[in-house]
Amino acid sequence: MPSEETPALALVLASAGAVLETARETLAPSDWVLRVAEPGDSLAPFIAESPALVVVDGSRAGRLALDWVREVNDGLEGQTPIVLVLGADAPEVVTAAYAVGASDVLVAPVGAEQLLDRIRFQTGSTRLVRSVQSEVEDLLNAQRLGGTGSWILETKSGLMHWTPEAERMLGFPVGSGPRDLDAFLDCVPENERDDLRSALDESAEGARSLSVRHRLATRSGGERWLEQSVEPVLSDRTAIGLRGTLRDITSEREDETGEGQQDRVDALTGLASRPAFFEALRQAIGESRDSAIAVLHIDVDSFRSVKHSMGHVFGDRLLEHLATVLCRFANAGDVGRILGDEFAVMLRDVDSPEDAIGFASRLQAAIGTPAEIDGRTVSFTASIGVAMYPEHGSTAEVLVQNADLATHHAKQRGRNSIECFRAAFRKSVMRRFTIEGELRHAMARGELFVEYQPRVLADTRIPVGVEALARWQHPALGRISPSEFIPVAEDTGLIGPIGNFVLETACREMAELRLRGLPIRVSVNVSSWQFAHSNVWETITGILRATELPPDLLEIEITESLMVDDGSDPDTAVRDLQAIGVRVALDDFGTGYSSLSYVSRFPLDVLKLDRSIIRDIDSDPHSESVAAAVVRLAHSLGMEIVGEGVDNSPQAEALHRIGCDELQGFLFSHSLALDDLEEWLREKRSGS
Ligand code: C2E
Ligand code: CA
Ligand code: CA
Repeated sequence: MPSEETPALALVLASAGAVLETARETLAPSDWVLRVAEPGDSLAPFIAESPALVVVDGSRAGRLALDWVREVNDGLEGQTPIVLVLGADAPEVVTAAYAVGASDVLVAPVGAEQLLDRIRFQTGSTRLVRSVQSEVEDLLNAQRLGGTGSWILETKSGLMHWTPEAERMLGFPVGSGPRDLDAFLDCVPENERDDLRSALDESAEGARSLSVRHRLATRSGGERWLEQSVEPVLSDRTAIGLRGTLRDITSEREDETGEGQQDRVDALTGLASRPAFFEALRQAIGESRDSAIAVLHIDVDSFRSVKHSMGHVFGDRLLEHLATVLCRFANAGDVGRILGDEFAVMLRDVDSPEDAIGFASRLQAAIGTPAEIDGRTVSFTASIGVAMYPEHGSTAEVLVQNADLATHHAKQRGRNSIECFRAAFRKSVMRRFTIEGELRHAMARGELFVEYQPRVLADTRIPVGVEALARWQHPALGRISPSEFIPVAEDTGLIGPIGNFVLETACREMAELRLRGLPIRVSVNVSSWQFAHSNVWETITGILRATELPPDLLEIEITESLMVDDGSDPDTAVRDLQAIGVRVALDDFGTGYSSLSYVSRFPLDVLKLDRSIIRDIDSDPHSESVAAAVVRLAHSLGMEIVGEGVDNSPQAEALHRIGCDELQGFLFSHSLALDDLEEWLREKRSGS
């Protein structure tokens, strides 16, 4: 409610009648300034005033009210709560109303008390969302520090929303969405639950911040210590929610109680443990005078896949080997194992960031040198992030966090890269937040669509298929690349509806094309999230039935991570789909590890060679022989091979020479909208 600040503006879209009266009665006494628009009025001047709340009277307007909601919501860019009052309770209208941007739907007759209550909640919860958004920096800390996470509990719905780091700490699958308080309390040993619950109640009721320490029962049967700082989220002096930050303090407690002395050395690798490394770094900072210190954060590429395909024991051997390599470059005390497969090295008295990067690339070369591990010769890579003291942070925590953030960016650029921290990386966290917020509305606002990139035979260049690619045109942000929004969609679960939309659109449009005499197979990317959280078999068979696309005109592209992500058993879904004629392709081959063992375990129809392994194929003989070996192997398993990202003729020729069956890339065509695709296919057909 607006009371303490300047009066807020509410737009009421209503014809004279009960709803308008109720709105007047409710809003005017609590300092809202009212603007009333009547159906038929132009909404632009109202939207230009940026109202903080919109009430739409749909009690006599029926479905027309949905158009108003959409118009207002689009005009206000989805930032403003819109309460819609409907004349009758029709579930399909209610669903449609949320889809076009209503924040809350009520059914007439609506009393003043009820309306006030809902408005209070709506304006409060928008504020809640905004306050979260304005705390991106905190969130960054929470997520990247490794030891902290945060949550928000909405009193009204009883749901707790978690940051990924918090989910990780509690052992929930990342991105699995809100849960209720009990799900959280279940993670706490029984005898401490009541205390924790009353602490939360106390914070909410007393509207005050407090901090509690409690234990957490881990899935493996062990326990960790958490510290929670809890504070109420207030609206009009009433708590409408609680916000908490959690921090894992297990090792600090051990330090305090002296229990953990032996934990100063990492048991597996003999390197400094996380707390010991931080302490050494703190000390180095204290003694540094004015000289610079570099912190390198090192993360093994695709470690999860390695562990998955080669086993935990092998994973441990690999980490031991890596530790030995790192110790050749620095004193053991200056090298720490920070977390799992993440290591950190500090370099004292560095002259410049360039020096640190030079060091990092020598390190990377040593890491990449093939080594004998467990009787096998293997080579693997690592990504490295660099942060410099004092430019990039004045404390050990911030330095490691920023080096970690740099590693994260290095990985996004591709494996085996090095990045030095830049302030812009923090901005990118902000950008991610924006993308996430906007993506939630993108479907409803019709901003998503599908384009098709052709795939041609390597010898004759005849088109044999297309890949459906998701596209997002945002009114203000412009075109946003799927490489940017698909990962966000996967983290948030939005890939569910988006993936279905792409599948449905692709099948429908290809069925249309077939009826127009141009049958062509379409390949659709299906992410592991969809396998883990939805019934892919039912979705796909349902769509095939509805669109009447023959199953053999559909192919799905899956990635290796499908096998790595826990909790999904895609085998049966994949096999069942193959049994009805849907083809299955393994995408992005050559970017992971488990590759070959995975392929032989899992008979798929098509293998798509990633751009990164064919990029230098025409110029680098080594690259060509690797690709040729892969082609031979996949052929022997009865797979078809597609070379992806082909953007010049020498590449196309080299791929053809080594036996690739099909090619896809800008050399032949970019992705095309349906109409352009049709034209392109007709041209090819007429032989031009
Ligand atoms: P992808 O599945 O590997 O798709 C191929 C990507 O390579 C596309 O990028 C395509 O435009 C690009 N490409 C094709 N030919 C060339 C070339 O000659 N040179 C270069 N440099 N690039 C080329 P796009 O459309 O940006 O998609 C990026 C990724 O986003 C896709 O990679 C895929 O992983 C994901 N994606 C796109 N649409 C969907 C979707 O509907 N569902 C899911 N789960 N993922 C999708
Ligand atoms: Ca693909
Ligand atoms: Ca690919």
